[in-house]
Order: sequence, then C-alpha cells, then structure tokens
Amino acid sequence: NFRCRSAFKLLEIDDKFRVLQPGDSVVDCGAAPGAWSQVAVQRVNSAGTDPELRRGTVIGIDLLNIPPLEGAHFLSSHDVTDPATHAKLLELLPNGQAHVILSDMAPNASGFREMDHEKLIVMCLSLIDLAERILKPGGSLVCKYWDGILVQKLQGKLSSVFGSVRTLKPNASRKDSSERYFLARMYRKPVR
Ligand code: SAM
Repeated sequence: NFRCRSAFKLLEIDDKFRVLQPGDSVVDCGAAPGAWSQVAVQRVNSAGTDPELRRGTVIGIDLLNIPPLEGAHFLSSHDVTDPATHAKLLELLPNGQAHVILSDMAPNASGFREMDHEKLIVMCLSLIDLAERILKPGGSLVCKYWDGILVQKLQGKLSSVFGSVRTLKPNASRKDSSERYFLARMYRKPVR
C-alpha cells in the first residue's frame, strides 16, 4: 500500500530504466508523504527485506512532516535548496555520496502557470548544486518539472554535467498536466 498515487510514476520510470539498484544510496527531494521513498526502500533494499541483496540507503527531505518509514531516514522541516541541508546529507550518506537523486518537489501552485513553472525550474537548478556536493560520478537524477519557456535552460545545464538526459511523461502522470520528468544519467563532476 502506497501513501500516494505518485508512487506509480516512479515505479513506471524505474521498471523501464532501472535507476534504483539494491545497495544504492538515494536522496528523495520533496518526499512527503513518502510514496516515492516507499518505492525506493523496496528497490534499493534499504530495509534489508532481502538478506541476499546489498542493503541500500534512503534519505527523504521535505519542508513538511514525513511520517516514519522503515528503511528510510527522513529530514522533515528541511529545505532541499538550503546549503545547511546539503551539509547534513553529506554526514548521513555512506561515504557522503549518493547514487541517485530523486525529486518530485513542487512549489505550492499559485495558479499562474508561468510563475509556477519558473519557481519549479529554479528548484530543479538547485539540484545541480546538490549533485555537485553529493552525487557519485556515474550517478543519476530524476526530477519533476512543469513544461514552459525555461526548460531549455534546465536541459542545457543538465546536459553539461550528465552524459544522457531524457524527457519522460509517465502514463501515471495526468495527460492534461504540464508535468514532465527529466532522467539524467552518467553524472560527471564539472571541472572548475
Ligand atoms: N514524491 C512524494 C510522494 O510520493 O509521496 C510527493 C511529493 S509532493 C508532489 C511535492 C513535495 O515537495 C511537497 O510535499 C512539498 O512540501 C515539497 N517541497 C516543495 N519545496 C520544497 C523544498 N524547497 N524543500 C523540500 N521540499 C519541498
């Protein structure tokens, strides 16, 4: 039983692209109420359900409260875009590194499409900074966005640090919504 129907979007993405592997460390951004984290816990075996497989790590972050879940460590009342949160993640992650960053984050919708689009893109761009601090070379990022004029900019930035970037519209995502996901793989740390 999942906490939210959004679980089916991640299941669909993961069934098709095998982003989450047993033993992986995953950071789930905008995790409340916790459905994506439920999927991640199953797929990376972070509750140790299958003793034959390596045991992964799932850390969920949200501004809101996230009810406890076996196999996950939650940072409720935390802002993903806050550098203090990044520092905490470095401490919590094994070797300070994640294999996968998931983001189903969304701002409270104002109803003004352009403005909501822009806000969410800014949040997605902050994930690129987070990746620079915690994502393993070769790692992956799945992030939700709302379609609009700034998508090219986000896609360009992702393409500069990931070997492959594709756009996904899961069947479980409402056809009439502008919601899309980027799946970015093969992370390489930028040279500075
Ligand atoms: N993936 C979740 C699940 O399956 O249960 C649903 C996520 S919901 C669509 C989006 C979440 O993003 C909200 O709970 C919201 O509080 C959170 N959020 C928005 N901005 C955030 C931020 N800056 N830091 C952390 N969480 C944020």
